[in-house]
Amino acid sequence: MVSAQALVLPELHAPFQVLEVELDNLRPDEVLVEMKATSICATDPAVQRGKIPQTFPVVLGHEGAGIVKEVGSAVSNLTKGDHLVLSYDSCGKCRHCQKKNNFRCLEIMKRNFGGQREDGSHTIIKEGKPVSSCFFGQSSFCNPAIVQANSCVKVDSSLDLAVICSLGCGIQTGAGSIFNVVKPVEKDVRSLGVFGLGAVGCAAVMAAHILSKDNPTVLSHVIAVDVNESRLKLAKELGATHTINPANEDVRARLMQLTEQEGLDAAVDCTGVLSVINSMIDFIGSGGIAVTIGNPGNESKASVPILPFIIGAKTYCASHQGNADPKSFIPHLASLYKQGRLPIDRLQKTYKAEDINEAIADMKNGSVIKPVLLWS
Ligand SMILES: [Zn+2]
Ligand SMILES: [Zn+2]
Repeated sequence: MVSAQALVLPELHAPFQVLEVELDNLRPDEVLVEMKATSICATDPAVQRGKIPQTFPVVLGHEGAGIVKEVGSAVSNLTKGDHLVLSYDSCGKCRHCQKKNNFRCLEIMKRNFGGQREDGSHTIIKEGKPVSSCFFGQSSFCNPAIVQANSCVKVDSSLDLAVICSLGCGIQTGAGSIFNVVKPVEKDVRSLGVFGLGAVGCAAVMAAHILSKDNPTVLSHVIAVDVNESRLKLAKELGATHTINPANEDVRARLMQLTEQEGLDAAVDCTGVLSVINSMIDFIGSGGIAVTIGNPGNESKASVPILPFIIGAKTYCASHQGNADPKSFIPHLASLYKQGRLPIDRLQKTYKAEDINEAIADMKNGSVIKPVLLWS
C-alpha cells in the first residue's frame, strides 16, 4: 500500500484535516498521480455545507494537476512522467461517451459523486476504514492520488500546473458555456449577459472576449453583472464591454437601454441564485438563449414564461462542464492560456495544501476568486 497526505473532510460543516492515509492497489483503469496543485472549486465547499450529499469522511478535490507516477495495466495512452490536468469522470462506453459527449454520460452521477469505485471499493483507506473518494474520479485533495483514467487529460509539459489545474472544472465550465452552448458565431449573438463573476463567470467573459476579437461582428456587448465592484473592474480588464452593479442600478432598465429595448441575445447565470436565474430568463430577447450553470438547490425550479418563449423562439437550458469533452477542450484552453489569451492566473492565489481552511475562508469572503493549493 502507498501512503499519501490527504485533506480529509471528517463530517458536515467541519474544517478539513491534514491526515496520513493509505491508497488501495492501483486497478487496471487507474493512474497514480503525483499531485502538484489542486485548485478549489465552488463544489468542494458546497459539500462541506451539505448542499451536495456525500458520505463522510470524504476526500474531495476536483481540479487537480500533476505528473503520472504509474499507470494501470489497461491504460495505453499515458506513460510515467506525463503532465496531467484532471477533469470529471465518464464511462467512455455509453452512447453519449461514444459520440464524445461525455458530459451526458449515463454514469455521470455515480462516477463523480458516488464516493467509491464502480464495484463499491474505495481508493483511500484510513486505519483500515474506507474513506469516500473517487470525487470527480480523482479526489485530488490527496498526494499522491489514484485517478480514474478517464479523468486524466495529458497537457503540454511546458505549462505551469499550478495555473492550468483550474482548467479541470471551473474554467472549462465557464469558457465552455460560451464556446459550446451559447455558440455566439453560429447564432449571431451580439449581446451577452454574464451574471456572477466567480471563476466560472470570469471564464465566460474571457471566452466571449476571445470570440469577439476573432469575429468582429459578434458580441459587441459583453455585459458583466455582479454586486462586487472589484470583480466588475476585473471583468472590464478581462474583456467585458459593460458592467452593471445591481446594488446601484436597475438591471432590467440598463440591459434594455444597452440592447435598444431588444433584450439579451444570450445570458449565462453563474450565481446559482434562483431570483437571478428567473430574472435572467426574463431578460432574454427574441431568438435568445438563457443558460443555467449555478445550482440554486437540488429541489429548485426555474420559472419560464411560456408564451414569450414560444413567440420569441427563445431557449432556456442548463449546462455543466461547459458541455465539453475534456480530452480535446482542456488542451485547447491550455493553448489559449499559453498564447496569453486566457489569463486565468489573474483569478488565482496560491496556498500551501495544508492551509486549505484559510483558502476556503478567503473564497467565501470574496477576497480570492480561485485559490490554488500547492503540494510539496
Ligand atoms: Zn467544480
Ligand atoms: Zn458514458
